Amino acid sequence: MKAMLLNKLSRLEENHSPLEMAELPEPLPSEHEILVKVSTCGVCHTELDEIEGRTPPPQLPAILGHQVVGKVAAVGGAASRFQVGERIGVAWIHSACGHCRHCLEGNENLCADFKATGRDVNGGYAEYMTAAEDFCYPIPPVFLDAEAAPLLCAGAIGYRSLKLTDLKNGQSLGLTGFGASAHLVLMIVKFRFPDSRVYVFSRSEGERAFAREQGAVWADDTEEEAPEKLSAIIDTTPVWKPVVEALKNLEPGGRLVVNAIRKEEVDKDYLYHLDYTTHLWMEKEIKSVANVARSDVREFLELAAEIPIRPEFQEFDLTDANQALVELKSRKIRGAKVLRVAR
Ligand SMILES: [Zn+2]
Ligand SMILES: [Zn+2]
Repeated sequence: MKAMLLNKLSRLEENHSPLEMAELPEPLPSEHEILVKVSTCGVCHTELDEIEGRTPPPQLPAILGHQVVGKVAAVGGAASRFQVGERIGVAWIHSACGHCRHCLEGNENLCADFKATGRDVNGGYAEYMTAAEDFCYPIPPVFLDAEAAPLLCAGAIGYRSLKLTDLKNGQSLGLTGFGASAHLVLMIVKFRFPDSRVYVFSRSEGERAFAREQGAVWADDTEEEAPEKLSAIIDTTPVWKPVVEALKNLEPGGRLVVNAIRKEEVDKDYLYHLDYTTHLWMEKEIKSVANVARSDVREFLELAAEIPIRPEFQEFDLTDANQALVELKSRKIRGAKVLRVAR
């Protein structure tokens, strides 16, 4: 099978082709696994964190990709949930221990033994991959493959972030950055919280224009002050300035949810701008979001089908994965980038 392989870590600015095309044997599903013939795989900012070493795969070479839509090509001896030919999705959560406190409470995303698709095990930047049947999801028929792929991470983690804000209808929400995840959050908010206003902070005029088109009432640069104080803000950027600037826009008791698996070091000095009175006092809270639980993916797929959310996407051939990653790095973003693996 064809796969785009990560052989060594590097920085995207210096290496515009971090992945290399390779011909590999098809993987074999174990007892409880299924073999997935990949149709489409979403491109996520986390792949940049893996390639650049902020959350590297424990072993190289590795096949990245954790927003996978495909068909069941074969099933392991003890796997019975899905039939050959059925369309399924695979998300960032590859597995968790199943018996620790976090797993038992439904927060398997916090499990110490959490394993990630496309990092700890091979993912979807390839024609085939394997996944445990209990960690696969039926894809609602309303979606094209390319629409469903970004729902599996950008959407599911956006959904979890929004849950963590504890937003109520009528309360105002801020979003810093307006990439794949934020644009899906905006769609959920419009459906679930029709009286809430959404404000977008982004340093990119392209993202701001896209946000206004999608229904944000206001979109301006990262350091600007929103016309009203916000009940909650979700940060979806890879850097620090938006975190500090967001805090000043929160109302008393407001909460900032940081939706990033890793932050980059480039502007870490900006944290010295943090002023306790302006940014933190008045019981403001900061909470991060880590990974996704299966329930997030399941609940969000159902909600997305009900709304229905039709994510904006931009398709690349599997062989053009490097180009998609470079564009993501330079924040040339409009909706979600997906790799078309098979027709
Ligand atoms: Zn992701
Ligand atoms: Zn566990």
